[in-house]
Amino acid sequence: MSYEELMNEYKETLNKYNKTLNQYTEALNKYNETKNEYKETIIENENLRLENNNLKRLLFGVKREYTPQKAQEETSIQCSLFDDELKELDEEIQKQIEENVEEVTVYKKKKSKERKSGIKKSELKNIEIEVKEYDINKEERCPVCDGELKEVSKEVVRQEIKYIPGKFVLTNYVQYTYKCKECGGKNSDNASFVFMKTRVPKPVITHSFASPSLATEVIYQKYYIGVPLYRQEKMWDDRGLVLPRNMMANWNIKISEYYFNKICEL
Ligand SMILES: [Zn+2]
Repeated sequence: MSYEELMNEYKETLNKYNKTLNQYTEALNKYNETKNEYKETIIENENLRLENNNLKRLLFGVKREYTPQKAQEETSIQCSLFDDELKELDEEIQKQIEENVEEVTVYKKKKSKERKSGIKKSELKNIEIEVKEYDINKEERCPVCDGELKEVSKEVVRQEIKYIPGKFVLTNYVQYTYKCKECGGKNSDNASFVFMKTRVPKPVITHSFASPSLATEVIYQKYYIGVPLYRQEKMWDDRGLVLPRNMMANWNIKISEYYFNKICEL
C-alpha cells in the first residue's frame, strides 16, 4: 500500500470517528436534558400530590396522608432508572416530604367487598330506560369533498343515571358514525376515508354515570341536609343504587373543582 493510499484511509477513518463523536455528544446532551426534565417532573409530581392531599383534608376533614415510608418506596421505584445519579435527588425529595408532612396518620385500607357501582341487578328489570340519539342533519355532507355521507355505525357511548325523587332513569347516549361515500374511493381525489361522528353532550364528570340530577342530590344530601357519605351509601343502596362513598367523595371534589371554584372566584 502506498503512502497516499494509507493517508486516504487514515483520513476516512478520522472522518468516521469525528462523525461518531458528534453523534455521541448529541445523544449525551439529549440524555442530560431528559434527565433534568425527569428530575423536575418528579419534584413537581410530589408537590402536587402533597397539595392534593392537603386540599382533600381541608375539604372533608379526613386525615388521608400517606406515610413518608410509603413515599420513599414509591420514589425509589421511580428512581431506579438512573440509580446512583438520582440517589441525591431522592434524598432531596425525602427532605421535602418530611418537611411538608407534619402530621402522619397511618391509613389502613379496609378490605372492601368488591361491589360494582351502578344500578343493582335486581332493580335493572324495573328501571326506566331513556335513549337519546345524536344524529347529523340530513343535509350534512363530507367536509373534504362535499360527497354524500353513509351511516357506518351507531353506538351507546355513555350511560347516565338520572335521579327523579322516587325513581331512577338510565339514559343511553347514542352516537352515530358516518362515512363519506366518495372519499377513499377509486374516483375520488381524496385517497383516505373520511369518517364523521356526531356530537354527544359532555357529561358533568368525565367517565362517570353521574347525571346532573344525581350529583345534585348527593351534594344536597351531604352539604345541605348534612347526611354523611357512609349513610348516603346505605340510603342509595336501599333505593337500588350502589354508590360507594369514595365515588361520591370523588364527585364532590370534581364538581367543586370544575364548577364551584369558578363561582367562588367571581
Ligand atoms: Zn368525501
